[in-house]
Amino acid sequence: MEKYQKIIEDVYLEVKNMPQSGKVANYIPELAFVDPENFGINITTIDKESFGVGDFDKKFSVQSITKILSLTLAYKFEGVKIWDRVDVEPSGNPFNSLLQLEADLGKPRNPFINAGAIVICDVLVSHLKNPKEDFLDFCKEISNIPTLQYNEKVAQSEKASGYRNVALCNFIKSFGNIKNDVDVVLDFYFYMCSLEMTCKELSKIFLFLTIDNFTTQKGERVITESQTKRINAIMLTCGFYDESGEFAFRVGLPGKSGVGGGIVAILPDKYCIAVWSPKLNVKGNSYKGMLFLEKFTSKTTSSIF
Ligand code: GLN
Repeated sequence: MEKYQKIIEDVYLEVKNMPQSGKVANYIPELAFVDPENFGINITTIDKESFGVGDFDKKFSVQSITKILSLTLAYKFEGVKIWDRVDVEPSGNPFNSLLQLEADLGKPRNPFINAGAIVICDVLVSHLKNPKEDFLDFCKEISNIPTLQYNEKVAQSEKASGYRNVALCNFIKSFGNIKNDVDVVLDFYFYMCSLEMTCKELSKIFLFLTIDNFTTQKGERVITESQTKRINAIMLTCGFYDESGEFAFRVGLPGKSGVGGGIVAILPDKYCIAVWSPKLNVKGNSYKGMLFLEKFTSKTTSSIF
C-alpha cells in the first residue's frame, strides 16, 4: 500500500512543474482570492489508510463536489421517486446552462448540473426541518469529521452574485418542479456549495461510495448497494458537465469536480482520491487535477475499464 505514497509524490512533482494553464473561478468573487499555486492530493484506501502530498491538508471550497452528498441524502429520502424530478442523462452543456430546461419542461438532465442540484435542494428543503444544519450533520455523520463547516463569506459572495442560479430556480419553478420558496431553496444551495474540506477529508467522506458494506460510526449503512452503483454511474456519465466523456476517456473513474478546483474520483473496492488545484479549464474543471488523475490512473493501471 505504501506504493501509493511514492506514486502520488512522483506524479505530483511531474505535474507541479508543468506549465500552469487555466484560470481561477472569479464569477463567485470570493473564490478569486485563493492562491492559484495550491496543489494537493490525498488518497484513502478501503482499509482506511490515507496518503497525502502537497496541500492535501488545506481547506478549500468544494463547490459542486457537495452535489454528490445532497443527491445521496435526497435519494435516501425519496428512493426511485427522485428520478421523477431529475433525469440521469449527460447534458453535454455547461454546468450553469438554462438551455435544455424549456424543451425538457423543467426536468433537469441530471442532478450534477446546477439546475438538477437546485431541484435536489428543493427535495431536501421539503424533508429537512433545518436544511443547512441537518445537511451538515449528515455530512459529519457519514464522514466522522465533526469539524465540517460552511464558509460564510463564500456563501454570501455567491448569494450576492448568483444571478444564473436565481434564474434557473425561478424558471424551474414556473414548470412546477420547485415546490418550496425559491429564496429558501437558493439559500440552502449557496450554503451547501460553500462547504469547505481538505483533500484528506474529501477522500474520506466518499468512502461510502467506495467500500462494499460501508457503515458509519453508528454502524448504519448510508445507502443501499444498488443506490451506490447508480450514484457512481451518474458520476461517471455526468460528473464533469460537458467534459464527462473526456474525463472517462482520460481517467476512467467515476468522479466529480467543483469550481473551487477540487476533483474526487473513486475506484470501487480500492480507493477514493481527491485532488485540488484551483486553476480551471474552459469547462470549469481543474486543469492540473485532471492531468494528475490521468497520469495517476495510467501509472497504477487503475480504472474501472
Ligand atoms: N456554486 C457553484 C455555482 O452554482 C457551483 C458550480 C460548480 O462547482 N461547478 O455556480
